[in-house]
Amino acid sequence: MIDMRTLYQHRDYPAALQNFNSSIPKKWSKFQGVHLAVTNHRCPICECTLKNGQLLTRPSSKSGKPPVQVEATVDHYRPQRYYPFLEFEDKNYILMCSECNNIYKGSEFPIFGTQVTRATTVAELIAEQPLIASPVNDNIFDLFKVVARRLTNGRKVLELTPKHTSGYLHEKALATIKLFGIGECEVNAHSNANVKTLRVNLLRSHFSMFENFINAYQNQDVPKMRSEITNKKLDSYGFLKIILANNVTNLT
Ligand SMILES: [Zn+2]
Repeated sequence: MIDMRTLYQHRDYPAALQNFNSSIPKKWSKFQGVHLAVTNHRCPICECTLKNGQLLTRPSSKSGKPPVQVEATVDHYRPQRYYPFLEFEDKNYILMCSECNNIYKGSEFPIFGTQVTRATTVAELIAEQPLIASPVNDNIFDLFKVVARRLTNGRKVLELTPKHTSGYLHEKALATIKLFGIGECEVNAHSNANVKTLRVNLLRSHFSMFENFINAYQNQDVPKMRSEITNKKLDSYGFLKIILANNVTNLT
């Protein structure tokens, strides 16, 4: 996951907001560019690339249809289904890849606690404790650890796991991991086989990128860490910052 808490301070944000406000009807896609600049052109949730020319694809579920391309989209963090008053609220938008947005998240928005009453005004939002992490608003370093894990078939993946063992932050991290299939990827796999395969392969490619770095980090081999970061451009990943916050477990 990629920390996006600097989004509203980005130098391009005011212009994006102005373009959005002057578009008729208002187009939330106007924010896509500035969100992509903050995430180094990656999905902030699953960290797949969103660079043109490098987009991932998977087979379509419908026979005879062309492959599905994983593209940049703008998600309504609180979905329009439950929060119609936030449809044109820019602070409610988060960049996501089309898989995370449309296939995994959809209109889901679980809230922590029993007998939850959803907000019907902006003022009431403060009382809600969402169970989906927001890379724009949450301190993701207090929610997640990175874990290198071996699948039942022996292959290895890089995933997220909750940092806390109980309480709201634990439940929030757990619900986010389950919803997006970005941890315990065999247990939390999507029911569509092509969607599942794409996600597992992505988590495997993340492991390949970080395998040597994690070993160097755990051996405190600073020159090796530096060369891995430079050679593989690891600083374009949110995983790097989470690991450097001493949030990594190696279960391989
Ligand atoms: Zn994604």
